[in-house]
Amino acid sequence: MSQHRDTICVQGGWQPKKGEPRVLPIYQSTTFKYDNSEQMARLFDLEESGYFYTRLQNPTNDAVAAKIAALEGGVGAMLTSSGQAASFFAVFNICEAGDHFIASNTIYGGTYNLFGVTMKKMGIDCTFIDPEMADEDIEKLFRPNTKCVFGETISNPGCHVFDIERFARIAHAHGVPLIVDNTFATPINCRPFEWGADIVTHSTTKYMDGHAATVGGCIVDSGNFDWMAHADRFPGLCAPDESYHGLAYAKAFGKMAYITKATVQLMRDLGSIQSPQNAFLLNEGLETLHLRMAQHCRNAQRVAEYLAADERVAWVNYPGLPGDKYHALAEKYLPNGGCGVIAFGLKGTREDAIRFMDSLKFICIVTHVADARSCVLHPASHTHRQLSDEQLKEAGVSPDLIRLSVGIENVEDILADIRQALDSMA
Ligand SMILES: *Cc1c(COP(=O)(O)O)cnc(C)c1O
Repeated sequence: MSQHRDTICVQGGWQPKKGEPRVLPIYQSTTFKYDNSEQMARLFDLEESGYFYTRLQNPTNDAVAAKIAALEGGVGAMLTSSGQAASFFAVFNICEAGDHFIASNTIYGGTYNLFGVTMKKMGIDCTFIDPEMADEDIEKLFRPNTKCVFGETISNPGCHVFDIERFARIAHAHGVPLIVDNTFATPINCRPFEWGADIVTHSTTKYMDGHAATVGGCIVDSGNFDWMAHADRFPGLCAPDESYHGLAYAKAFGKMAYITKATVQLMRDLGSIQSPQNAFLLNEGLETLHLRMAQHCRNAQRVAEYLAADERVAWVNYPGLPGDKYHALAEKYLPNGGCGVIAFGLKGTREDAIRFMDSLKFICIVTHVADARSCVLHPASHTHRQLSDEQLKEAGVSPDLIRLSVGIENVEDILADIRQALDSMA
């Protein structure tokens, strides 16, 4: 019986049997016991599934991953130690040295650096595209060694909405999967698989945890991409893996091939597992995700409208505003609202922007976004300071951009804090 997302938030994942704890237990154990050597050997050969070492899998983590997979409508998921690890593993699971992929240039600054600088050193080449480019101009950028396309449902920090269905069509026409970072929308507001995306990633650090308590990530597989139909392009999934006695993931695991490979090969070798303690806290956050997202969106809509009407504000990016450049895409992909993040600029100098932020009372300046508490950041001087002015512009981050993450406090108090900070600039 398929359940509503609200119910999955509360009840999904951990399904206790008779006499087991009602609440997801923290399996605080590196290892798991078996009765004889033969049982253990079968696990190592992937002939049987079971737990043996927490670097590969842990029951607490798996229960939380199962909840996120159900929320996204995927076949399987894997938790990672951070959102960065999720983005890296998601691409590295299908790309190796000599390969190429395409990413939207409006993605999160950390991901931009990972793809453009660090993965380049590993011999993997990323072409960043302006998602506004015409189809035929994007098509020209595909190469024989192109392995995937990557974008963010709602971009951090610019609040651009990614045309998932369009990019899925373009990727599939070239025989490669579309990977979507769904951190800001969360599966409460958008399920990229319903629009043709093949793989979804998350920084669970943001709305999913929701309380700014734990750093974490997640990769979810739709199970829909047919790797064997493009076996030459994806030897990592379709050709024998000598580290598992010549097993081929796509043949042995079918729809679970991608997530199984990410777990038993990448996690085994690179070890970026989420700690079970953090997975437990993430699960607590997920239990209220549906309630929090609704309040974030209600509050942010009010705040965006307020800012847009104030003459001291130069511009506001919030896809929920009727005049927003991405409003039509938001109506299609985010009919119940997007998220609590607003990007805006003030009239005046860069110093005015800083004075405004310093004047806020309970809306704090923190290097975080998308949690219960309202907070604010100036990407050009904080998260994105490693990008050049040119890269900033390409990433849709103007020097005056203020990223306001609207929390779930009472909206009148949020508005009052913003009003007094604007007044103090005069
Ligand atoms: C924060 C963020 C990341 C990186 O996640 P971490 O958990 O900080 O490693 C990736 N993508 C988006 C959209 C983010 O907001």
